[in-house]
Amino acid sequence: MLCFNIITIFPEYFREVFDFGIVRRARAAGLVEITAHDLREWTSDRHRTVDDRPFGGGDGMILKPAPLFEAVVALTGANEAREVAGTGTRVVLLTPQGRVFDQRVAEELAAVNQIVMICGRYEGVDERVVEALVTDELSIGDYVLSGGEPAAVVVVDAVVRLLPGALGSETSAVNESFSDGLLDYPHYTRPPEFRGLRVPDILLGGHHAEIARWRRRAALKKTQRNRPDLLERAALSDDERKWLEKGE
Ligand code: SAM
Repeated sequence: MLCFNIITIFPEYFREVFDFGIVRRARAAGLVEITAHDLREWTSDRHRTVDDRPFGGGDGMILKPAPLFEAVVALTGANEAREVAGTGTRVVLLTPQGRVFDQRVAEELAAVNQIVMICGRYEGVDERVVEALVTDELSIGDYVLSGGEPAAVVVVDAVVRLLPGALGSETSAVNESFSDGLLDYPHYTRPPEFRGLRVPDILLGGHHAEIARWRRRAALKKTQRNRPDLLERAALSDDERKWLEKGE
């Protein structure tokens, strides 16, 4: 079982977000446990203070190191901060300064048992948390959110659907976008004609090899149109590369 422990100043944010679809089923089946913890549980002053002003001046507030150190030590089961690394727990900080979260990182995280995630707020967290505790700084894209909570939801969702048994069909994740370095092929359902728009004839014919070939080419074309950067790294045959260059 994979355990996510999420550290946040807004635990209510997660109250229902994991109660739907695949993530809900995976929780019910005991494949994953997801708990949101209030960072203020690890404060010791009367006001339960989690933030303070930045050294050196400037705008905004910074999440203080002490509550975060306490929280990570407690949630990893370590006795003290320098033992955290030895627990093998992945300590993920959601931050726009991280490496970009993608399907490869999701696959990597789906293979571990314990993940602690830190959601930043305000201007972010004291850098000593990164230096001493964090194993992975992850960004969900090149834009700035107001907090790490929506990013944590994205990471949990993408990782959970990769856990063996989480999807209805074991093969579904294998055919999805990014699994083979390309975007998914286009999908159609009934009716075969809708407002004058027809489903490609080949998909109606039941010829499996032809359908597979059409889908592969459609995936190549869509990737070339929307994400040409992916084609540079994708495993394509020489024929496929030539076919794309011809632009048929
Ligand atoms: N001062 C930070 C900077 O410029 O890099 C931005 C802080 S942001 C307003 C507050 C928090 O939102 C961050 O600490 C982080 O946890 C989260 N966050 C913002 N954008 C994110 C992104 N693209 N991916 C993951 N987390 C993000």
